[in-house]
Amino acid sequence: MTTATSTAAPAATREPPFTTGLTPWAQTLPQHISPTAAKNYLGCSLRFYFERVACIRKQTPAALHLGKAVHAALQAFHLARWRGGDDSPEATATAYEDAFHRLERDEGPVNFKDDDEREKCRLDGLRVVAAYLDSPEAMKEKPRAVEVLLKEDIPGLSVPLTGAMDLVEGNFTPVDFKSAAAKPDPAHAAFDHEIQLVSYQILLETATGETPPSLDLVFLVKTKTPQVIRVSSPPADAHRKRRVTALLETAVEGIAAGRYHPQPGMYCSWCQYKNECMAWLPGQAPTARSAA
Ligand code: SF4
Repeated sequence: MTTATSTAAPAATREPPFTTGLTPWAQTLPQHISPTAAKNYLGCSLRFYFERVACIRKQTPAALHLGKAVHAALQAFHLARWRGGDDSPEATATAYEDAFHRLERDEGPVNFKDDDEREKCRLDGLRVVAAYLDSPEAMKEKPRAVEVLLKEDIPGLSVPLTGAMDLVEGNFTPVDFKSAAAKPDPAHAAFDHEIQLVSYQILLETATGETPPSLDLVFLVKTKTPQVIRVSSPPADAHRKRRVTALLETAVEGIAAGRYHPQPGMYCSWCQYKNECMAWLPGQAPTARSAA
């Protein structure tokens, strides 16, 4: 197990030559790591800091709001199939509408430009949900599990790995649903979500002893005529699992060490923390309001 330790040092050498200023929380292992947190940290550690450590609230992006409401509708549909409840299109649409309003009230405000944009967003989500229910991808059988949260100790990781799977099919295939604005490129999509997919495999194998036959993403594409596209990847071999475990551990070590700094890149185009980022300088710590 990797632990952050401090060793006694002469007073003159105790201060590092360079400090980010974000070190009051350093040397603290997170309680666990999820693939989402690891991917966010590795994408831009400073954005991770603003979002999950300093907990600086921003308006919810409209696309994220829609994605969460669609996710809630699919969850209601899959739970109904699992429990033998009402899985009709009407009940699923009602679950969507309820979630759209509840999330706006509880987690908003959402950055809709105006009422027209809000209405378009609401209808886009309804169309996407209906397209899923009409598609061959809609769950026909009873799933093995819905919204399953697993937490396991994994060799090579200093803290437990957690993951919340949208759906586990009868043959142990984990399925994650993604809302998307454009049709995904299958190879790119699988690579982009490698940490999440392989983490789910590791969690399932550890919890059940079963290796899933594939690792699946189902994209709900918000084009004018919505599309539902499944991207399947083969289960990871030992090399892929070691690689993902190393990526997860890199994030754990960075969080434990308080390593947060700007990592400019494609994320910046839609980052909501540009002002905070521009104000960042080594030695000037933003105020932390709660832990990650
Ligand atoms: S603007 Fe870019 S570098 Fe700065 S916090 Fe956001 S993603 Fe990171």
